[in-house]
This record gives sequence, C-alpha cells and structure tokens, in this order.
Amino acid sequence: MDKKYKWKLWTVLILSILILIGLGYLHYLRKGTQPVAVVTPTPAETLVPSGCPTCPADIVITDEPTSTPEVTQTPAPATATPEPTQEPTEEPVEVTVDIDSDDSINKLVNISYPVDPGYVPKDLRVVNIPSSESEYLREEAANALEQMYKAACDNQVYLRIVDGYRSYSEQLALYNYYERVHGKAYTEYVDDHPGASEHQLGLAVDLGWYNGNCQLNPCIATYPQYQWLLDNSYKYGWIARYPDKKSDVTHITYSPWHFRYVGSEEAAKIHDSGLTMEEYYKRPVKTN
Ligand SMILES: [Zn+2]
Repeated sequence: MDKKYKWKLWTVLILSILILIGLGYLHYLRKGTQPVAVVTPTPAETLVPSGCPTCPADIVITDEPTSTPEVTQTPAPATATPEPTQEPTEEPVEVTVDIDSDDSINKLVNISYPVDPGYVPKDLRVVNIPSSESEYLREEAANALEQMYKAACDNQVYLRIVDGYRSYSEQLALYNYYERVHGKAYTEYVDDHPGASEHQLGLAVDLGWYNGNCQLNPCIATYPQYQWLLDNSYKYGWIARYPDKKSDVTHITYSPWHFRYVGSEEAAKIHDSGLTMEEYYKRPVKTN
C-alpha cells in the first residue's frame, strides 16, 4: 500500500470517528434539553376515594375552602311576601321518635326548638367523601352518607361535601359575619342561627357538585343530577330539609344543598308525605 493511499484511509477513518462523536454529542444534547415530564396530581385526584372508581379524576375543584363564609348564599329578601303557611288538613301524625333530645337523630331543630349551646355530639368522625378540608358527621350519618355517595357515583352523580358539623362557636362566628357584612335582614333566613342549626347536631350536610359548580347556590337544583338526590337520598336516611316555597314554615330560605339525616325509616315517611319536618311533626316555627 502506497503512502498516499494510507493517508487517505486514515483521514476517512478519523473523519468518520469525529462524525460519530459529533452525532452522539448532538443526541446527548437533545435528550438533555427535553422537558422532564413531572407528574403533579391535581387536587381532584387526591380527593377521589378508592371506594368510588367511577368518579372522574380530571375535574379540578376551583372553589374556596369551606372555612370561607357562605357568601354565595342568597336568602329570600326580608321584604318578600311569605308563602302561605300550609295548614294541616290530615290527622296529626303520631310521633314515634324522639324529636326533642339533642342526642336523638330525629331532633327537630329550628329557631323555636334550638340545640343546647354546649351540645357536642360524642361520635363525630371524618367523612370519607371529597371535600376541601376534613368534614365531620356523627358515625351513623357518616356511614349513610358514604353509602349514598357511592350509589350516586354509580349513577354518574358526583358529589362532595361543602360543610358538615359546625360547632356552636362556628355558627356564632358565621352569624356575626353575615350580620356585619350583609345586615340583620340577611341573617334571618340562613341556617346559621347559633343554637338553631342542624349542623351543630352533626346530622346535617351541605352537598355540592364535585366540580364546585353552583356551590351553596339554588342553581345546584337546576342540574338534572339533583333529581337523583331528591329521588334517592331518603333511602339512605337523608331528606332535603329546606325545600322551595317552604321558608315560611322552616324559617330558612330555599337551600337545596342542605340535607338532614333522620334515619332511613323516618326519612321515607317524611319524603312520602311531601312535608317539611315542622309540618310532619306539627311543630311550626313560632315567629312571634
Ligand atoms: Zn346547611
């Protein structure tokens, strides 16, 4: 092999090696500058309990934590003409449950029949349902609500808890806040009267849609899924407590998000009657 040919061979070899090194370096650079895929779970994903696999995991909750006062609540204006009180026309229902003791799941609560300010349920526990922060209910109510939540999920009705148990002092703080911000008239028909709220019993819950739409707003009832709640909640012991056109009876504005646990037997009776608890038990609110 002559010298000239040898040099050519060496040049080709070295150039090939250099090209290969260059290509390798370019590949390294490209790989190194590619964005690293970071998997950040959305808040919604972390809130979906394993017991409800059909719940959507891609809806991001956008509303504020439940500690924020319920400023979206729109009680009936004080000047509104009260609905005519429904006069009992049928025979009085024999009350077979305890509607007077604070510790009874059937305790009737309103501004005329308050709860002892010092009453705190002994069996409160965290409810395993999506919520912005831990929400508490009494054991029996929590069990029933979890069952209802799963059944709702299976029917593509995706719920979350907006508010559960509220202590007397929390009620007082909320009430004072409403009075300060919105005036006395506003506070009259909200379910935050200290000592007169079912939330203090640990047997009431404010429900919302999983995506936060219409939270604590009557428009929650305009969703077709709300009908599922009306048709099925009583089977789990829950009743829609403050229906439309009944604020003169309950002294609470229409609050379709508010449900009350009374046990499935009593809930079925009240549901079938179409009456509020005040009407069913013949215990109207005394406004004078
Ligand atoms: Zn409520």
